[in-house]
Amino acid sequence: MLLTAELLLNYQRCDRRAFLEAYGDRAYKAPPSDFLLKLRQDSALHQQQVLSTQTWQRPQYPEHNWVAAAEATVELMRQGVDQIYQGVLLVESSGVSLLSKPSLLIKQAGLSDFGDWLYAPADIRLSKRPKLEYKVISAFHVQLLAEIQGAWPESAWLVLREKGRYAVDLWQSLPQMQSILAALTEMIQQQQEPEVFIARNRCSLCPWFQHCYEIAQSQQHLSLLPGVTPSRYPALQQLELTTVAALAKTDPTRLEHLPGFSNDAAIRLVQQAQAVHQNQAIARMIQAATNRQLLANLPTASVELYFDIEAEPGLNLAYLHGVLVVDRQAGSQTFYPLMAEQPDGERLVWQQFLELVQRYPTAPIFHFCAYEVQTVERLARLYHTPYSLVKPLLTRFFDLHLWVTETAALPIESYTLKLIARWLGFEWRDADANGAQSIYWYSQWLQTGDRAFLEAILRYNEDDCRATYHVKEWLTSFIHTRQLKVVNVP
Ligand code: SF4
Repeated sequence: MLLTAELLLNYQRCDRRAFLEAYGDRAYKAPPSDFLLKLRQDSALHQQQVLSTQTWQRPQYPEHNWVAAAEATVELMRQGVDQIYQGVLLVESSGVSLLSKPSLLIKQAGLSDFGDWLYAPADIRLSKRPKLEYKVISAFHVQLLAEIQGAWPESAWLVLREKGRYAVDLWQSLPQMQSILAALTEMIQQQQEPEVFIARNRCSLCPWFQHCYEIAQSQQHLSLLPGVTPSRYPALQQLELTTVAALAKTDPTRLEHLPGFSNDAAIRLVQQAQAVHQNQAIARMIQAATNRQLLANLPTASVELYFDIEAEPGLNLAYLHGVLVVDRQAGSQTFYPLMAEQPDGERLVWQQFLELVQRYPTAPIFHFCAYEVQTVERLARLYHTPYSLVKPLLTRFFDLHLWVTETAALPIESYTLKLIARWLGFEWRDADANGAQSIYWYSQWLQTGDRAFLEAILRYNEDDCRATYHVKEWLTSFIHTRQLKVVNVP
């Protein structure tokens, strides 16, 4: 049985994913998406940049022959090479082969089976943060190195994007790694297939998503219900609340003392189950006073702006400000795509955005989720926009994600713009487009100069703005039909 660092990494993200990697039918595994391929390319570029400032040797071995690769690595270690790039560590332990491939093995002073030197691992990661899962992998390298060289390295590093070298606290990470490795080993040895559990943030980029999603749908799995989190699910199972129908009939007071629940969370979850069970929108009735105050401020104005940003977090770059101007009096809708065709155009489009929103000084600006506000604040700081200009602008922003989730439970699986707007009948012209795809298209535009990529981004962004408008129209009508007060702004 072979346990690799990659499997250990997957296990930390999702135990089922590690199981599928070991035993799953490859026919159900999707090829990497364009976005994942781009991330791999970025990661390779980051590695190249780090390595270009270093000297190193690489062990020579036939592809996929791990035994030969491990022997070639040990040979370089024995010779005392200063830095070994893409070495392979292989250890047999109680019938299990453990394999890892640290980006670099760095020679240190100290005693080992090789002489008065030993090696410590460094992993070059594209991430800006020293994620826990990466620290655990560093600890895994350290454990294998201890076996191979007969001495424990005292250090291990992550070489992160922007932050550079980060020293891993091995006192903390080694015991964590050992208990995770023991659990992984047991799962693989016993061939215990973990239950499917769809958690959008971790599943969205997983190559097994379609496979797991189909299983979850066929089982009407409770994880498809918004609000059922991995930490709440076991508590619901204990109460034998494993179906939407059962949860819809539950008195929320049964849930409010369970781990991971508050009074609010219990009411919200039961309402969510009722919305799905009855296949209809249900008005939320939590914190009525706060909600009424919130609802009283949902504006309908003669001119409204619908705003959506496309950004590349890896470059800290907002490359497109899309604004749909809806003029109710004139009966017109005009889309303004303010695009930075090159990264250094960000400042210019920021200025264009400010000019556009100042042309409609009282128009409310609707957007979906907090990202637009955060980006406006970031750009204002970056380009030294006077606060006197930004402050009144921010008061015009209305986050429709917040409004929808505070006012309605919908029969959907997740409160994304796409799922809400689709439930309302809105369709994107490019059904598969999404934010990650837009990032890929932008990188392709920069590499190839093919304007078809820019046009695809603009089409997607315009549809996002129109979907936001669609949601706002529905929400206004939903609030009216429940006779909640809506203020009209001139
Ligand atoms: S889709 Fe989700 S549940 Fe399935 S393996 Fe991937 S991360 Fe795990």
